[in-house]
Amino acid sequence: MAPDKLNPPDTLKRPEDCAVVIFGASGDLTGRKLVPALYRLFASGATPEHFYICGAARSEMSREQFQDKMRQAVESRGLDMGAWQAFADRLHYQAVVYDQVESYQALATRLDELDARHGVGGNRILELAIPPTLYQTMAVTLARAGLSQEERGWRRLVVEKPFGRDLESSRELNRAIGQGFQEHQVFRIDHYLAKETVQNIMMFRFANAIFEPLWNRNFIDQVSIVTGETLGVEHRAGYYEQAGVLRDMFQNHMMQLLALVAAEPPSLFEADRVRDERTKLFRSLRPFPLEELYDYLVLAQYEAGEIDGKPVPAYRAEPGVDPSSLAPTFAAMKVYVDNWRWQGVPFYLTSGKRLTEKLTRITINFREVPHSLFRRVLGEDIQTNRLVLDIQPKEEITLYFQAKQPGAQVGLRTVRLHFSYQDQAGRQGMEAYEKALVDAMLGDQMLFWRQDGVELCWAFLDPVLEACEQCGDRADRLHRYRAGSWGPSDAAKLWPGHPYNNP
Ligand code: NDP
Repeated sequence: MAPDKLNPPDTLKRPEDCAVVIFGASGDLTGRKLVPALYRLFASGATPEHFYICGAARSEMSREQFQDKMRQAVESRGLDMGAWQAFADRLHYQAVVYDQVESYQALATRLDELDARHGVGGNRILELAIPPTLYQTMAVTLARAGLSQEERGWRRLVVEKPFGRDLESSRELNRAIGQGFQEHQVFRIDHYLAKETVQNIMMFRFANAIFEPLWNRNFIDQVSIVTGETLGVEHRAGYYEQAGVLRDMFQNHMMQLLALVAAEPPSLFEADRVRDERTKLFRSLRPFPLEELYDYLVLAQYEAGEIDGKPVPAYRAEPGVDPSSLAPTFAAMKVYVDNWRWQGVPFYLTSGKRLTEKLTRITINFREVPHSLFRRVLGEDIQTNRLVLDIQPKEEITLYFQAKQPGAQVGLRTVRLHFSYQDQAGRQGMEAYEKALVDAMLGDQMLFWRQDGVELCWAFLDPVLEACEQCGDRADRLHRYRAGSWGPSDAAKLWPGHPYNNP
């Protein structure tokens, strides 16, 4: 029997030499996520041997100003700055006009110089960290300026969500991207997918013989997927007002989590085989019953309340939000998957802002025992088994089962088998953006969206969005919940047996 390998040697391949060009480098995502992730990768030796970063945005900034801004961003994350100087030597900046071909041509010339200076052979990651309204223009202009051509090295376009705001706009965006880039060059990030525990769902399901035989309608009663945030809209009110929770969370992260739990096993752990199975799953989603829309969907918006003991304003009082806004900040949805494995099993998807705690949790609720021989003695039903996959902030797996209550009397109590990533000695996990960026450098698309998946999820959600947004009593249908709670009490009607104060 093979020995336990809790901490096998790091087998991560080092990516080929490349440049990372970040468009929108003056913005929030660059400072908060991208550059700190690249720095950590660099400090741990996971970046290519020859590598540099070129920030690009409209703002006029000297190289030193950009380096300084990025140093502050990295420092504010509390990271060890020991590798900073060597990293800063690889940081450059170039001002660009996003829709001007000449500006990109100048950038291309600069990148050729930097390639030569850093000994990079021409491979490039082009990361779009710009507002989504600019994606199309940007993709087309990049293509016109020849920046997508793979004559000298590969070119990979990394796109952040949202991938459109409905099926039609996602197709339009894809057509624009397709003017210069082929599917193998496009990396649509879903940073949820790059979280270690999310990836572990596949290992858990397909590397253990004991769970998968139970993973179906015969043994599973219901599945719930909850992503709760304590944050409000922060500085993204403009975007959120247009998006709301369904576009912001359901079209992407919630659907991917659902696919990870429910998709069939791929024949190989290989990007397109895994994505094929996710696509099949999206294709099996039962169209939403629009005639009974609100029996399957609860939408709500947060009122003023308290988070961590501090008062927070109502959504409508947040800066940049319309005081009469009808954008939902919470949704609970009952979804069915019409296939052999999952027929009749409800999947309860819930996501909201300003909830009690930040949490992403998948709970597999198993069926009751077929015959309760203890009922007569105990006078009550036996608690069902539950498997809880905690994705963030805790990274844990817990199996709840029944055991005898110690003592002379016959009694049962719920006990748990528990595994925590944090407890693994010497564990060196990667944060989601580190994993996503390193995979893009390696050309591994497994954790990225493929366009067919994007379109299928929009095709599922579009009629729901249309029905909600055109519904005459839209305002009446929007429930309210206190910031700092687990959402509106009406959500419990949709999801029987699931108390909202204990997800
Ligand atoms: P920002 O709003 O911070 O914008 C990024 C940069 O784009 C700005 O610094 C600005 O640079 C430029 N910009 C902003 N508005 C305009 C405009 N109207 N016209 C032209 N340029 C503009 O965005 P984020 O960094 O927050 O997000 C970048 C992308 O990543 C977005 O698509 C977002 O949806 C996505 N995303 C962001 C997350 C986050 O946590 N921030 C999380 C997940 C996805 P300059 O003026 O110098 O050109």
